[in-house]
Amino acid sequence: MAVRIIIGLALTVVAGVIAGRRLWWLFRLGRSGQPAPERIGALREHPAQGAETQVTEVIGQRKLLQWSVPGAAHALTFWGFLVLLLTIIEAYGALFSKHFAIVLIGTWAWVGFVEDLFAVGVLVGIITFAIIRLSSDPRREGRRSRFSGSHTGAAWLVLLGIFLVIATLLIYRGAQINTGDFPYPHGAFASQIVGHWLHPLGAANKGIETTFILLQLAVILAFAIFVTYSKHLHIAIAPINVLFARRPNGLGPLQPMRSNGKVLDFEQADPDEDVFGIGKVEDLSWKGMLDLATCTECGRCQSQCPAWATGKPLSPKMIILELRDHAFAKAPYLLAGSADERAALPEAVRAEAERPIIGDADAHGVIHPDELWSCTNCGACVEECPVDIEHIDHITGMRRYQVLVESAFPAEAATMLKNLENKGDPWGMGESKRTDWMSDLDFEVPVVDGKIGDDVEYLFWVGCAGALEDRAKKATKAIAQLLHSAGVNFAVLGPAEACTGDPARRMGNEFVFSMLAQQNIETLNEAGARKIVASCPHCFNTIAREYPQLGGDYEVIHHTQLLARLVADGRITPVTPIEERITYHDPCFLGRHNRVFTAPREIMEQVPGVQPQEMHRCKERGFCCGAGSARMWMEERIGKRINTERIDEALGTNPDTISTGCPFCLVMLGDAVAAKKGSGEAKETLEVVDVAQLLARSIQPAAVAAAPASDGPAGPVPDSEDRE
Ligand code: SF4
Ligand code: SF4
Repeated sequence: MAVRIIIGLALTVVAGVIAGRRLWWLFRLGRSGQPAPERIGALREHPAQGAETQVTEVIGQRKLLQWSVPGAAHALTFWGFLVLLLTIIEAYGALFSKHFAIVLIGTWAWVGFVEDLFAVGVLVGIITFAIIRLSSDPRREGRRSRFSGSHTGAAWLVLLGIFLVIATLLIYRGAQINTGDFPYPHGAFASQIVGHWLHPLGAANKGIETTFILLQLAVILAFAIFVTYSKHLHIAIAPINVLFARRPNGLGPLQPMRSNGKVLDFEQADPDEDVFGIGKVEDLSWKGMLDLATCTECGRCQSQCPAWATGKPLSPKMIILELRDHAFAKAPYLLAGSADERAALPEAVRAEAERPIIGDADAHGVIHPDELWSCTNCGACVEECPVDIEHIDHITGMRRYQVLVESAFPAEAATMLKNLENKGDPWGMGESKRTDWMSDLDFEVPVVDGKIGDDVEYLFWVGCAGALEDRAKKATKAIAQLLHSAGVNFAVLGPAEACTGDPARRMGNEFVFSMLAQQNIETLNEAGARKIVASCPHCFNTIAREYPQLGGDYEVIHHTQLLARLVADGRITPVTPIEERITYHDPCFLGRHNRVFTAPREIMEQVPGVQPQEMHRCKERGFCCGAGSARMWMEERIGKRINTERIDEALGTNPDTISTGCPFCLVMLGDAVAAKKGSGEAKETLEVVDVAQLLARSIQPAAVAAAPASDGPAGPVPDSEDRE
């Protein structure tokens, strides 16, 4: 017994010191980031939400289980390790007493059964993981593998480590059965089987018991050390990352810029003193640093990223890993106590500290500019990440620094930004054009002049694309016609409406966003706006979820939600059949960012004759059109065009029409369909329309509805070239 005790405790002390030092180092590195008082404040304010996510996401494995097979394997392994905490207590207890049993429950047969059941469950889990890794080996599958770029060697080591934990556990328990030291009379079925195999060894079971108890502890302690040095750190810190994640998630609104934990006031801010976005890794908040350390390298984000899927250099996983590797390599510099200490650091560390966070190969940048600017902010990465990493916040932070401090961003976006500043819309068409879309309507659309009248129920926020882009204008007209025919009193701001600032904010120009947002909030407040219906999901997201950050609080609804309600209430009745196969494309900022999935589908279901066809990638797993995050105004030079990839998928459903609920999607998908028609890959009659246009066709008499939905008078138009 003395040998057991001495070796067991010695191993524990050594492992505790090594793992403890590493955890202390990680803690200090995390603290070198910026403060994030809002995360602590949110948790203090809503502790129940924090507790709920621990129960659902951590213990319930909610996000992991969205991928059924790997999710089930992970859940088995995770729950198995929770249950096996009991066996670790038993192994330590056995160091001191041959007949150790956990107080009260330690001899109950069902406890032994559950322990063995989960031990076997863990084995099933790791075998499943091994099969998944073999079938998706990045050496064979290349970019198609979600493990491409991950540290696969470490993953195999961990699988081996877990196997050894279970193997040593079952062997020492089997030997204990033969020596009479096992606390469970029956129930521990797997241990009994192993005991049966070991029984012929007779007295040797005593030695086997001692050896494998010590091996069990050695493997667990080695595993614990390895965890602190590898991606498996997530075992310890994922619950903390989930606890401090944005609620309900990192989608929807972007967060205001902060410096030293305080929201930046542009009038007071000093670029020499304040932090302007993420210009170096220590500009990340401690929550950002925690994100880096928590990544499990599972590649779920990468597998859903439209930029990665179309051959671009951006992978959300690699962004996190590149930042993490850089932070770890720069850590001695960040943790050094003085300039002298920093000067004494090895050359490699000082060189790492000098690396620009964004830069091409010549500049030895941590992240290539093409990675940074390929992101459409579609949110697929945030949606998928099982440990609540907030990729979009980090990408936006780096863009903010590049735009506001370095003035380094794709040249095409400069024109768009100038137009926003000078004319209030991305195309630079000016306020006078904002009412052209209503010129040939057979009813008058009230334009707010001063206060919104008491009889006006909704302010219709038309948006720049809806007011100025030809194809989007047709959707705008359809919405206005539907509201009018349903007897909804609405008005528009007309020339007083300006861009919400979404494209500027998403590409990192918080200054222009703030200017436009304040201007719009002033206009809306002066007009007394309360209820707003927005046709553009980007406007919808910005007004509903970002303007409150600047004091603009309104009740905002998307036009598909309002139209679905009007149909359900019988105020709009689709009558004319549209006998077509129609596939609906989920706009990212309507669907994934704001969870509006059912309203557009409900509208389509109510139109007689429509045969809805879902694409494989739909709803939460929808695939971007390529326009978000101001990408609409930037050239897509690398890889396949994202809109072409989406249309290829849509064509797989053999549609007569592709519907959507966003003017950006309408334009992007329309461009891709036009190209497909040009190459003979799509039928000439294929159209891309807003669901409002479908509904408008269906409330018209059959003869009028028979005309193509895209037909109709158009005002002066910026065509696709104008977007450049
Ligand atoms: S937001 Fe979309 S495009 Fe950007 S990194 Fe995430 S998945 Fe890729
Ligand atoms: S960021 Fe999240 S989804 Fe992506 S690899 Fe890391 S843990 Fe997986």
